[in-house]
Amino acid sequence: MADANEFAVGPMLAAYAMRVEESLGRRHAEPAHPYRNDYERDRDRVIHSRAFRRLEDKTQVFTLRFSDHFRNRLTHTLEVAQISRTVARVLGLNLDLVEALALAHDIGHPPFGHAGEEVLDGLMREHGGSFDHNIHALRIVEGFEQKYLDFSGLNLTFEVREGIIKHSHDCDPALFPELAEYRLDDRPTLEAQVIDLADEIGYNCADLDDGYEAKLLTVAAMRDGMLLFDRLYRPLEKKRAAAPEKLLFNEALKQLLDALVTDLIDSTRERLRKSGARSVEDVRRNPKRLAGFGGAMGTEDMRVKDFLSARLYAHPSIRAERKKITRSLEGLFQHFLEHPRSLPASYHAKAQQEALHRIVCDYIAGMTDSYLIQQYGKYVTG
Ligand code: MG
Repeated sequence: MADANEFAVGPMLAAYAMRVEESLGRRHAEPAHPYRNDYERDRDRVIHSRAFRRLEDKTQVFTLRFSDHFRNRLTHTLEVAQISRTVARVLGLNLDLVEALALAHDIGHPPFGHAGEEVLDGLMREHGGSFDHNIHALRIVEGFEQKYLDFSGLNLTFEVREGIIKHSHDCDPALFPELAEYRLDDRPTLEAQVIDLADEIGYNCADLDDGYEAKLLTVAAMRDGMLLFDRLYRPLEKKRAAAPEKLLFNEALKQLLDALVTDLIDSTRERLRKSGARSVEDVRRNPKRLAGFGGAMGTEDMRVKDFLSARLYAHPSIRAERKKITRSLEGLFQHFLEHPRSLPASYHAKAQQEALHRIVCDYIAGMTDSYLIQQYGKYVTG
């Protein structure tokens, strides 16, 4: 059978799309697969990884104490993959690469969402280090996943590793000399750029939905705080005055998501046209990322974010959760620093080569929410 990387499968790729046959490849050479190209194999490797499965029990915004039908990091990831695929297909981007990147985009997240990330980062800074979920994701795919006879990690292609590192923000090349191979001065592929926006659209709409469902956000507050939401809600309410509020809300939210995705597609296309980008190299060299909203939708998007920050993330019941999360992460971190022998043997053994606080951080970052609570109970409060 021929090499799967040679097949042009699916829709035609645009000139600025990443072609799998032009990939900079894997760290460890592997024979080509007969019917899956390298990006399809990367997607499959991510799905079959432990870190991916653990997303099921990692908080997005709401812990399970609120409700078990809210998003967790796994269902959020699936929403991002779905939005990304839609955008990528319309723009003629590489769907396999987009899917691999979307499914991998949050695998470096520690337990308890952004609160968890901030607490771990703060703890690491006390020891002269830091914690960033993108860098942690790279450590996972480059080393922690142990599945293959010939190498540690998942041996993913360069473009997927690069996308992981450049997810949602640029890294300063001066601060991360060890990441020089990823050309930190250059933009990532358009496929990676699209993921960031799909992530943002996904979590903004999901947080509004879960916030409403949790009764922490009201329709009145949303209409007041987000002009676009009000513009979408008003005609619905007029036309269907007898409809239950929940269904009107659902419809308006669906239209909001659609408006954001449509603007992302149109504005990215327009920016691509203006930039004259005709190749991946042009995309990389462009002074700014090309995927993004237009000016007006950018303003609306900021309003949504500001609204969520002020009304949901800062809500007293979310803050109260945060205090508990901080206490358990700090308590467990301290415990393992003082009693490294209670770490699993494989982690304890690593303390010969690396600083203990780094190993403790890696161990805790890999935990699911419930495992962290269980370990905190066992070692700290038990
Ligand atoms: Mg995400």
